[in-house]
Amino acid sequence: MSKVIVVGAGTNGVTSAIELKKRGHQVTLVDPGPLPHPLAASTDISKAVRAAYGPDEDYTALAERCIELWRKWNSEFGVELYHETGVLFVCQHPMRPGDFEYESCRVLEKQGHRLERFDSFTFHERFPAFAPARFQDGFFDPDAGYVESGRVVATLVEHAKSIGVELRERAKFVALNENDDRVHGVVLDNRHRINGDAVVIAAGAWTPYVLPFTKKFLQATGHPVFHLKPDKPELFLPERFPFFGADISTTGYYGFPLNQGVVKIANHGPGREMSPDSAERVVTAEDENALREFLRSTIPALAEAAIVYTRVCMYCDTNDGDFWIAADPQRSNLVISTGDCGHGFKFAPVLGEITADAVEGKANPFLQKFRWRPEIKSGEAKEAARFAPN
Ligand SMILES: Cc1cc2nc3c(=O)[nH]c(=O)nc-3n(C[C@H](O)[C@H](O)[C@H](O)COP(=O)(O)OP(=O)(O)OC[C@H]3O[C@@H](n4cnc5c(N)ncnc54)[C@H](O)[C@@H]3O)c2cc1C
Repeated sequence: MSKVIVVGAGTNGVTSAIELKKRGHQVTLVDPGPLPHPLAASTDISKAVRAAYGPDEDYTALAERCIELWRKWNSEFGVELYHETGVLFVCQHPMRPGDFEYESCRVLEKQGHRLERFDSFTFHERFPAFAPARFQDGFFDPDAGYVESGRVVATLVEHAKSIGVELRERAKFVALNENDDRVHGVVLDNRHRINGDAVVIAAGAWTPYVLPFTKKFLQATGHPVFHLKPDKPELFLPERFPFFGADISTTGYYGFPLNQGVVKIANHGPGREMSPDSAERVVTAEDENALREFLRSTIPALAEAAIVYTRVCMYCDTNDGDFWIAADPQRSNLVISTGDCGHGFKFAPVLGEITADAVEGKANPFLQKFRWRPEIKSGEAKEAARFAPN
């Protein structure tokens, strides 16, 4: 077995470290910390777990498998990290072929999901926080929900340590230690070197900055996140206000039920390109005005609610919205595991396995989808729920 260095202890890195350790490799996990890192995309109060992926049956199948595994993790770790409160996707117009909602419905019904459908009347009765008559169509999928992502990473880091992963906190990767076409290890910011037989870079949105050659196909984008304190919290309990996407592929807006006393609303849109360490990484007045406008038209009960926390969370974008988990053709013992495009956390239960297969050069059906593909140009494709204005 070999010695593997994993750079980055967000969800991609820590799950890869655990899986590689379980397969008998000696594993060192490097992160500046503290963990979960406060600026990491994985560190948040909630991330959605949905099987709805428009026409993309690969992601739906992978998400279905993950939902089973999230249920298993709840019992294995003895804590409810995954809350199966269902997900709701609604639209102002009747669903049409080609729409995210229509295609998701078609695929999920084919998969046997117990979907609930709505018209504007039944919808408002069931979910009274939304503006009456705002939505004409939509569906609720009960076999889905959200996870407490920061707690998941904290739990996985402890688990990694308990099975013998060597954790190097307060250590920052600055360069590959390489010559010719082989990587021999990593160089850290304190000039220490760690030697290894293989390196996994799972540095999320920092990846194009720590490995500049990846800027050709990876881009870091910032996305506004808001936590609001509702005046009527009872309206936002999960049974009346589950995770929702409101015409998500044409507005970007989505949100979560009341959690830790707040309602989180964010936007799955184009975002702003920036370095994760940039001073620009703050929510702007423009972001807030757009949010208020959305709330006034869609969730009036939240329109004037106090914003108690904001954050710009970072995506590591690829040109087609699919993940990037692949060995570098120039350096076969370097694997990059990133490219979340704002929808990767739900796949935590399988990301380690897919990345470990890439390290070991093993066949995995998803490694084709997440392969090394610099030929794909921006705008050629996108993840079905993503709002990407022309
Ligand atoms: C606003 C927003 C909403 C999202 N919502 C959802 C959702 O609802 N559902 C879903 O499935 N997914 C969602 N995602 C996507 C999800 O957050 C990501 O898929 C996931 O968190 C990516 O994990 P990661 O490990 O790649 O990156 P990160 O979690 O960012 O971790 C990267 C790690 O690398 C470390 N690092 C950086 N530089 C170095 C260095 N030089 N040396 C060592 N370590 C380094 C950092 O400290 C950090 O710990 C969302 C993302 C955002 C931004």
